[in-house]
Amino acid sequence: MKIVIVGGVAGGASAAARARRLSEDAQIVLIERGPDVSFANCGLPYYIGGKITDRDKLLVVTPKRLEERLQLDVRVRSSVEAIDRKSKTVQIHDLESGRKYEESYDKLILAPGAVPLRPPIPGIDLPGIFTLRNLQDVDRIKAVVDQGVQQAVVVGAGFIGLEVVENLVRLGVSTTVVELQDQVLPPFDKEMTTPLAEALAAKGVTLLLGEAADGFEETDEGLVVRLKSGQELPAQLVALGIGVRPENKLAVDAGLKVGPRGGIQVNEYLQTNDPDIYAVGDAIEVKDFVLGGPTQVPLAGPANRQGRIAADNIFGRSSKYRGTQGTAILGLFGLTAAMTGASEKVLKRSEVPHRIVYVHPSNHAGYYPGAEQMTLKLLFDPESGKVLGAQGIGGAGVDKRIDVLAVAIQAGMTVFDLEEMELAYAPQFGSAKDPINMAGFVAAGLIRDDHPQIDVSSLLATSPAERPLLLDVRTVEEFANGHIPGSMNIPVDDLRSRLEELPKDQEIAVYCQVGQRGYLGCDLPQVKKHGRKTS
Ligand code: FAD
Repeated sequence: MKIVIVGGVAGGASAAARARRLSEDAQIVLIERGPDVSFANCGLPYYIGGKITDRDKLLVVTPKRLEERLQLDVRVRSSVEAIDRKSKTVQIHDLESGRKYEESYDKLILAPGAVPLRPPIPGIDLPGIFTLRNLQDVDRIKAVVDQGVQQAVVVGAGFIGLEVVENLVRLGVSTTVVELQDQVLPPFDKEMTTPLAEALAAKGVTLLLGEAADGFEETDEGLVVRLKSGQELPAQLVALGIGVRPENKLAVDAGLKVGPRGGIQVNEYLQTNDPDIYAVGDAIEVKDFVLGGPTQVPLAGPANRQGRIAADNIFGRSSKYRGTQGTAILGLFGLTAAMTGASEKVLKRSEVPHRIVYVHPSNHAGYYPGAEQMTLKLLFDPESGKVLGAQGIGGAGVDKRIDVLAVAIQAGMTVFDLEEMELAYAPQFGSAKDPINMAGFVAAGLIRDDHPQIDVSSLLATSPAERPLLLDVRTVEEFANGHIPGSMNIPVDDLRSRLEELPKDQEIAVYCQVGQRGYLGCDLPQVKKHGRKTS
């Protein structure tokens, strides 16, 4: 068996290593256009900021190591330029010598990744405007940064853009972020990203939302970024982080099917429409694990797992890719934002019925020093309670909760399962009722109609005349510091003795700061009769 693999990083290197483990005899040829294989793309922003100081640490393995340890035929600085499906050969361009030659295959795995978007904006190819994909990109950025950059503009507030921002700020660079959407981190629901925007502002980052770069110019002082609004931003460095598109030229030229957004189409065994050609990683279209339809999710975990699966199938181990649920995480100035499954906006766009709860627990027992609050948002099916998605923002412990919820989604669990989950607990790690249990209790209670809920946005969308009575059960001081206009204040601890003050024939919506006191207030039988909880 002779396998040729195009692309030697996440998906390609995983496929090659797995193939060797499954067959000692197979001839495995790994072709990589760049000088490196299996490097840590995900670590690149931290090398810019100096958190990772040793460049070699970004090279997870070298071509030499792959050749010695796994007996792979690794050809770097070699570009596959065409596939001839009839003769089962690929045309390779040795970028060092200029030689072009053919290589035959029995099975071909395409793992060419994705290309950062560079829209045709005037001046976009000027020196000083960078995208970040590989070590050569990071070397170029680092060279400019090391010369001393005072002002930088980062276009795009997605995962990579924000990671670059954090690292520029670490270097003391005055940084402006320009984002087309009205929020940072667009895969998240907007309200969950507010703490990120606040953290950026607190670090002195200028955040321009609903803005777009319209042109770039070179001046004696450096670059100028012209925005749609007409504003002009001086910068010595511009980083573009506005997304990627699948590297699909080889596939398209070879007549392999691609989806509407360019991802190479594969079946659940990761085979293209040519059964001898597999495709993995950022270049492919995958099944959305939650919604079932096609999607494109450029993440390292899926690419690595897909590489293994393609190799398994080539060697007769029937292995299916389940789909991608988009579990992703960002660290920004000490905050953690993580998500898994479908967001509210995606569920709305797809017209999938869902309900939402928010909980605001601490990462561990409040009495143990250092507890940090988080906000978890849980999206679930209103009938079955099946978990559809989750997002978390906060400090410590957000990663763990989103990972647990990612597993819950994989396993098809419901909010009733979350109520019952038995998770590791000691005061420094969690609570006897873990945030996951809490989210489950609130969500399951909603389905059981234990505590009806009105969400804040629909409440505020109702005209004041039609709104239920808004009952604020926080303390008098908290109420005095700000409340929803038109609301009445009875602190939760006084509620039993002051029930007469409540109207008997009007619906009551109880609210507090994070939901717990609102829940308690709503649970008094007299309030329950007419009450609804909001938070
Ligand atoms: P790649 O890893 O991009 O590898 C594709 C390789 O194929 C490239 O090296 C390319 O040179 C080569 N190639 C392409 N065409 C040819 C050809 N014709 N001939 C020969 N070689 C070719 N994901 C996460 O999950 N978490 C993170 O924290 C995270 N951080 C990231 C940070 C940065 C800065 C970047 C750039 C990406 C990050 N990602 C992260 C995304 C993750 O790195 C990718 O999803 C993953 O690398 C995709 O793997 P792949 O094998 O499909 O493509």
